[in-house]
Amino acid sequence: MPQSQLRIVIVGHVDHGKSTLIGRLLNDTGSLPDGKVEQVQEMSRKRGMPFEWAFVMDALQAERDQGITIDTTQIHFKTKQRPYVIIDAPGHTEFLKNMVTGASQADAALLVIDAGEGALEQSRRHAYLLHLLGVRQVAVVINKMDRVEFAQARYETVAHEIKEYLAELGLFPKAVIPVSARNGDNIVTRNEDQGGWYLGPTVIEQLDAFRPQQTSPDQPLRFPLQDVYKPDDRRILAGRVESGRLRVGDTLRFAPTGASARIVSIEAWNHPETVLSAQAGQSIGITLDKRIFAERGHVAHHEDAAPVLTHRLGVRLFWLVSEPMQVGRTYTLKIATAEHRVTVEQVTAVINVEDLTSTPGKAVHRNEVAEVTLRSRSPIAVDLAAELPRTGRGVLLDGNDVVGGCLVVEAEDAATANL
Ligand code: GDP
Repeated sequence: MPQSQLRIVIVGHVDHGKSTLIGRLLNDTGSLPDGKVEQVQEMSRKRGMPFEWAFVMDALQAERDQGITIDTTQIHFKTKQRPYVIIDAPGHTEFLKNMVTGASQADAALLVIDAGEGALEQSRRHAYLLHLLGVRQVAVVINKMDRVEFAQARYETVAHEIKEYLAELGLFPKAVIPVSARNGDNIVTRNEDQGGWYLGPTVIEQLDAFRPQQTSPDQPLRFPLQDVYKPDDRRILAGRVESGRLRVGDTLRFAPTGASARIVSIEAWNHPETVLSAQAGQSIGITLDKRIFAERGHVAHHEDAAPVLTHRLGVRLFWLVSEPMQVGRTYTLKIATAEHRVTVEQVTAVINVEDLTSTPGKAVHRNEVAEVTLRSRSPIAVDLAAELPRTGRGVLLDGNDVVGGCLVVEAEDAATANL
């Protein structure tokens, strides 16, 4: 059976070789269009510039930009094992935003570090983002090993430093791979002359060893409503099952109203007939045995495993824009399909991603990570990100602009708080 596609992100400091690595991965797996490399080599020669793999990426990008149907931010390649998609090309202006908002849900990540320079501030910030976004399958690629004569001692130093940093975040890389993206060493093919001391996997072997992220149907059910349709005399509640499983006959309760009803039928959009059950990842519509008030943003769950209903949330936040986040300001918090007006009550800590120390503050600046308390008048149905990542993560909007991404780390139960 063909394996399902794996979604990867390639992160790391600018100029550490991400585009070169991507060019190599595409070329060495035979995924580039015929003649593309020669064409770019010829163009570089005419212009008197050295050939760069990044130019090949630019050329592909330019071709895609002229087509209207192809997503410009995704790059595909294939190994014998399975197809891959690199979500979001590095350097793309929306890169961080897409990562933070979860538009790019990656199964695995490669963190690229220049062997000569080691992990710099941006490398650490990207590593922090991987932690923040819950990407657990990470491999470190120590690139430009040709510049340091594939010296094992240099590899050990850089590997040790980044592993220590990642361990503090609870991230344990599956491999730390010494490579030369420019020469193609240890990407797809192993070069025994270079770094014969390295016995671990090549980049491709490591990618093939990763697994698509599982959304377990055994988790509590969360079915956030996207829309309510009335095609005829029926009323269909539509959305995507974010976690868990539901079956015809189940009694559902809806947060935040507390209304409850039984499922009469389930329709899966990719299935011609009604189905008896649906699980995490499926987009479905359901009909109920009675008419209850339900609308976009409400979250269906089983009675025995409800989300927390809260007016006050502790979040770990990543701020994206130049205008700082200020205590006292109001933003829109979007969690799954719900939107709430929230006010920043407190910035408990601004985290220095370099050394992971933290200080209290009143504002959070661009690219900073902070622990923040948000307050809302309307009750918010949430989960802790550590327990249910899909409904424990949100995006902050200022007007229509995405200004930050956050993980729910603390949620005070409104019911208990009122006791
Ligand atoms: P990005 O900004 O992370 O995408 O980095 P690029 O892929 O554009 O690479 C930045 C520079 O490093 C370019 O001049 C590349 O030719 C060079 N480079 C990338 N990989 C290697 C490598 O393995 N060895 C050497 N010597 N140079 C490399």
